[in-house]
Order: sequence, then structure tokens, then C-alpha cells
Amino acid sequence: MNNQPAIRLSLPSKGRLEIDALDFLAETGLRVFKPNPRQYEATVPSLPELGIIFQRPGDIVVSVRQGSIDFGITGIDMIEEKRGSNGDILILHDTLGFGHCALKLAVPEAWKDVRDIPSLRTYAGSLNRPLRVATKFPFLTERFLNEYDISHILMSAEGTLETAPTIGYADMISDLVSSGQTLQDNRLRALPDGLIQSSQAALIANRKTLQTNPRALEMARRLLEYVEAHLRAKENLLIVANMRGETPEAIAQKMFTQTSVGGLQGPTISPIVTRESNQGWHSVSIVVRHDQLQKAIMELRSIGGSGIIVSPITYIFEEEPPRYKAMLAALKG
Ligand code: AMP
Repeated sequence: MNNQPAIRLSLPSKGRLEIDALDFLAETGLRVFKPNPRQYEATVPSLPELGIIFQRPGDIVVSVRQGSIDFGITGIDMIEEKRGSNGDILILHDTLGFGHCALKLAVPEAWKDVRDIPSLRTYAGSLNRPLRVATKFPFLTERFLNEYDISHILMSAEGTLETAPTIGYADMISDLVSSGQTLQDNRLRALPDGLIQSSQAALIANRKTLQTNPRALEMARRLLEYVEAHLRAKENLLIVANMRGETPEAIAQKMFTQTSVGGLQGPTISPIVTRESNQGWHSVSIVVRHDQLQKAIMELRSIGGSGIIVSPITYIFEEEPPRYKAMLAALKG
């Protein structure tokens, strides 16, 4: 018998996406323990049944599609590039909130006449040879260029793509853009209507594994539970304030007259035991969105709130994670 964990999750093996994925998992309560930075395996002490392996983003999608790995976290860009059409990849969560970027067409700044896709089509037609487009995303790029009827050939590329036009390997590129700095540094310009795929990190699973392996299904529920509870919590803050009132109901009525201090279901209100009786002090707790904080504090003050404490929230667990329900429905379909 080997002592390998039963279920495996694959993470990006290098770069910003690896760091962001590890930070994200740590924030959700799933800290990854990697005993040796050069090793391609790791564990999650809070979920011993889950093993971690590190792969290149494209290989993550292929391994999950083939079923050799059960779960993966990688960019939507690579998922769409490599998921194939047989439905073996199921996307469990498509907005993990990190790894934002977009696959875009970019041309040399010097191409003054090429401002958008129609003018690129005209330019491609005017060449007496095919337009050469360098990319690491041949499937998505080909589909996009064909859809817009731009005659071209794709040039496959490893490593840095942005230099391809300068060194004469290609005329233009289709590449991931985050801040846009790399394009600018290489005197390239993204076409405003050349967005091929917008992307951020997503959680994927192998559909057949979830349909046939109850332990994998249970792991999907736990992963989604942690991820959803964390993402929901991250959007919100907990406010605790003191407020005077005859009864909890009377205080709640005052709070309901305000728009941002209603809480998730309603406020939690409990009496405060003071040395002198009949003071009427209560403690009220509510959850508010980050962007509502200033408004909530003003509203609490306006109805007599004092001693207002604001804290971050680690998790908000609902009765059942909504995306788990969606996943069960998708598995039946
Ligand atoms: P930027 O200069 O911020 O626009 O980043 C562009 C460079 O970073 C390009 O070389 C991209 O291939 C790479 N890049 C940006 N975002 C990502 C991402 N989410 N995943 C992988 N590579 C990325």
C-alpha cells in the first residue's frame, strides 16, 4: 500500500500564478506545505486526503481532462485553450479573484494604419504573403482570426513572445496582457477590439471522476465550501456597535429605517449587562460590504450607535455552497 493522498489538486508550477494560488489557498484556510521548494509535490495539513502537485498551466488542464489528476487551479485562458470539446473538464468556480489577464491581439506601434480588427483584415489582405501571428494559444487565436476572416499563419512560440515582431519571427502577437507594461516596453499596441479571451484563475475537476468517485465528490464539496466562504467573507466586514433602546425589536426597527445596516438576515442584537440596571444598552452586530462601510458607520451614528468596532471576516458559511449545488446539477446533465 502506498501512502499517497487519495485525491490530487494540481497548481501552477511557477511565476505569479503559483504565488497567487498559494496565497489564495492559504487565505481560504488550505495552506500548502511544500517541504522542498524544488519538489513538485506538496501537502495540505488541514486536508490530509488532498495531495498537491505542481505543473505548467497547460499541463494542468490536460492532466485533469485525462483524469490522471482530479482537480486543478489555473487560468481560464489555458482552460479554454486546452479543455477540448468532450466535456471532461468541469469548471467548478470561474472567478477565484486572482490571476486576472486577457488574451489580446497586439501589433507593432509603428503600424499606423492598423487601429482595429477591420483595418487588420485589410492590412492582412494587402500583404503578398500570409500575416504571421506568434502565440502560445493556437486554438483560441485561430478561432478568433477565422471568425473575423483574417488570413494568417500561426507561429508557435515558447518563452517571451513580445520580441517576436522585433526579431522578425512574426508580424504581430496574440498574448496575455495584465498591466500592459510588457507590450509598451516592446513597442506593441493591443487592438481595442482584439480581446480573444478574458481570464482569471478558476477551479476545475474531471467530470467522470466526480461522477464515479464519492471521495472526489466530497473533496469538491469541501474545496467549494472553503473557497466560497472565504470569497464571500472577503467582500464583507463585521461591525459591532453599542446602542440604546427599550428592546431588541425597538432597536431593530430603527436600524431597518437605514439602508446599509440591515445585516445578512437581520441584525443580531443582545442586551449588555451594565452595573446600573435599566440602562437599555444593547450590542448590535451586522455584516456589511466593504464599499458600504462609511455609509453604515454614519447610519449607525445617526440612530445612536457608539463604540463601533469593525473587523475583517474569515469565512461566511451558507447552508450549502451555491456552486456545489450547481456542480451537482451539471454532473447530472
Ligand atoms: P503585463 O506586462 O503586466 O501586461 O504582463 C504581461 C506579461 O506577463 C506577458 O509576458 C504575459 O505572458 C505574462 N502574464 C500576464 N498575466 C499573466 C497570467 N495571469 N498568467 C500567465 N502569464 C501572465
